Amino acid sequence: MRKDNIHLLAILFFTLLIFFNLQAHALSVKEQMATDPAVKTAIEELVLANHILYDQGVVDGYGHISVRNPSNLKTFFLSRSVAPSMVKVEDIIEFDFDGKALNNDARTPYGERFIHSGIYKLRADVKSVVHGHAGAVLPFGLTDTRLRPVYHMSSFLGAGAPIFEIRKYAKPDPDTDMFVSNVDLGEGLASALGKDDFVILRGHGYATTADSVRKVVFRSVYAVQNALIQSEAMKMGNPIYLTPEESRKAKETIEKTINRPWDLWVERLK
Ligand code: MN
Repeated sequence: MRKDNIHLLAILFFTLLIFFNLQAHALSVKEQMATDPAVKTAIEELVLANHILYDQGVVDGYGHISVRNPSNLKTFFLSRSVAPSMVKVEDIIEFDFDGKALNNDARTPYGERFIHSGIYKLRADVKSVVHGHAGAVLPFGLTDTRLRPVYHMSSFLGAGAPIFEIRKYAKPDPDTDMFVSNVDLGEGLASALGKDDFVILRGHGYATTADSVRKVVFRSVYAVQNALIQSEAMKMGNPIYLTPEESRKAKETIEKTINRPWDLWVERLK
């Protein structure tokens, strides 16, 4: 064997050794926060977002928000199973795209973490996901009337929210308990979401997505408002919806300003 081949083999061997060593000793959430400012910021925002979503009436004892790990695009952070308003930094668990907790974390996770893992797996652009059950949104999954943007604040709804029909994805029995409680259902939900950023779970709730925690909180709040306004308008007659071009332009303008309500919502928590 030539000398440079031996060198190449040695380099390969040590690279693999380092790789598997790192795999075996994945840093805990706490260690990542201590050594990686991007992770620290992401998790601190995630905790605030949990409290804001409750304060804004978007979630109650149920519902959750996650953030993709900014330093490892194949994992995400989500609280253990606890009411959103009570989430603390110590409650955050790191998961892979099969909804499996890393670092042998044995604390009880949310049963519906597969909503998050399924979406992160299929949508590389998504950095944060919210799931909730806000009552105002539900009628739009029960009828043939779609949730569509009725004002500029919720223009991200675009052509209207698609519906996830769990019966299409449940195997072998289409009658489930309605929970997105495994990898297949999570991926089914992600495929129903498609390229949109809001999907309604028939008879259950909704999931919404964005490229940041702040934006997904903004979208959750104003999608619920949109549902309330659209329902009111429909009692009076046929609503006028934003045109696709109005939606596109309004989204571009309004989503540049999301730090303003975010700062207000954080202030309210004090
Ligand atoms: Mn749910």
